Amino acid sequence: MGNFANRKQHAVLIPYPLQGHINPMLKLAKLFHLRGFHITFVNTEYNHKRLLKSRGPNALDGFTDFSFETIPDGLTPMEGDDNVSQDVPSISQSIRKNFLKPFCELLTRLNHSTNVPPVTCLVSDSCMSFTIQAAEEFALPNVLYFSSSACSLLIVMYLRSFVERGIIPFKDDSYLTNGCLETKVDWIPGLKNFRLKDILDYIRTTDPNDIMVEFFFEIADRFNRDSTILLNTYNELESDVMNALYSMFPSLYTIGPLHSLLNQTPQIHQLDCLGSNLWKEDTECLEWLESKEPGSVVYVNFGSITVMTPHQLLEFAWGLANCHKPFLWIIRPDLVIGGSVILSSEFTNEISDRGLIASWCPQEKVLNHPSIGGFLTHCGWNSTTESICAGVPMLCWPFFADQPTNCRFICNEWEIGMEIDTNVKREELAKLINEVIAGDKGKKMRQKAMELKKMAKESTRLGGCSYKNLDKVIKEVLLKQN
Ligand code: UDP
Repeated sequence: MGNFANRKQHAVLIPYPLQGHINPMLKLAKLFHLRGFHITFVNTEYNHKRLLKSRGPNALDGFTDFSFETIPDGLTPMEGDDNVSQDVPSISQSIRKNFLKPFCELLTRLNHSTNVPPVTCLVSDSCMSFTIQAAEEFALPNVLYFSSSACSLLIVMYLRSFVERGIIPFKDDSYLTNGCLETKVDWIPGLKNFRLKDILDYIRTTDPNDIMVEFFFEIADRFNRDSTILLNTYNELESDVMNALYSMFPSLYTIGPLHSLLNQTPQIHQLDCLGSNLWKEDTECLEWLESKEPGSVVYVNFGSITVMTPHQLLEFAWGLANCHKPFLWIIRPDLVIGGSVILSSEFTNEISDRGLIASWCPQEKVLNHPSIGGFLTHCGWNSTTESICAGVPMLCWPFFADQPTNCRFICNEWEIGMEIDTNVKREELAKLINEVIAGDKGKKMRQKAMELKKMAKESTRLGGCSYKNLDKVIKEVLLKQN
């Protein structure tokens, strides 16, 4: 019994291989590590190389009981740029076809290693559903981490009903423009005031065998009443949806917002230098923010996947120039479709030192800087929760996947943001920026964001609901089985 009880628990964590999934999974890994687990964190070879490039060749070495492993992603290497987010349908298809075998080989290797304890559990992104089979083969508990909102999980669980009701696939492309997207979706319990355009955007397809719809069908099919599911949200944020989900999944745990949970863990500083950004961070922008008035700056960032046309980029640029407010704009090297970003000297003269452009930044630090007054975002779930935890109101330009759903919650349910038309126009943008930074509506939105921030902090402090939920998962699910 003595040996058995003292044996170190070994968790293998595997994120879906994109930035917005790697970040929260690394946070989860740190939380498990600080609760005594030996950690193996599994990236694809492609992303591992990018991490070493952005953070330095030894950035992932030398941590006690915390190591990194890789598996191949099965994709043909891209020509030219090797520092971009991979194509979502291609990587999703490859995950289904190619990941199980190298992952099982890795587990076998870890179990035979004398340097690490035998693997005792898996914590895997729910998009990596092959891990369910691996967990069965190795007789391991597998905790599934769903990386978007509770609402998106609910929608994924009802995805097949969209087919059964004859809603998808769309009969033809005209359904995307003729008002069909305004159709109410009032038949999913827990979902309020939703339209088709607010649903996971992969449903906007005319293809009966659409790769992404199939991918999500598989994810939903593999969840069952016995699945242990972790959500990066807190109960009060999505209470109606959570009630609907709790009746479907007895072992569902809200443990978010993860960065708030992590930031309130006292020993976290031991792991401060362990980061997951795939692009090199520009930290000078933090100094630049120091020179600005409190609440005056609009922070613009579209995350790691969103792309836009050169025309849309120009409208954003001139909207920012014309709003006469200071701005920090993150333009990823691959943000613009079909090539590099060229902004005219007329634009740079106009903005002078009022605006700063960088290619990647430490977003959580930026959002928490007192000079930030608003966040122009694509509404990725991490960006959404990070903005909430900083009490910053948003301007929303959702691009794809779950972002329209998050946008609906931000603007209608929580009333902490305003939506920008997909076909962005510089005049409209300048007006909205002024409203969010200096208008009455902006003030109200900021107050509401501050209330949500307070609730998030409560939930993740020692003894709060998210905090207790993480402890429960560890004690009741992971330790019980060993
Ligand atoms: N991020 C960052 N710096 C940047 C842009 C993004 O640190 O310049 C981080 C951000 O904090 C978030 C993640 O990258 O944790 C992006 O995830 P999100 O879900 O918001 O969007 P995605 O990139 O998946 O579309």
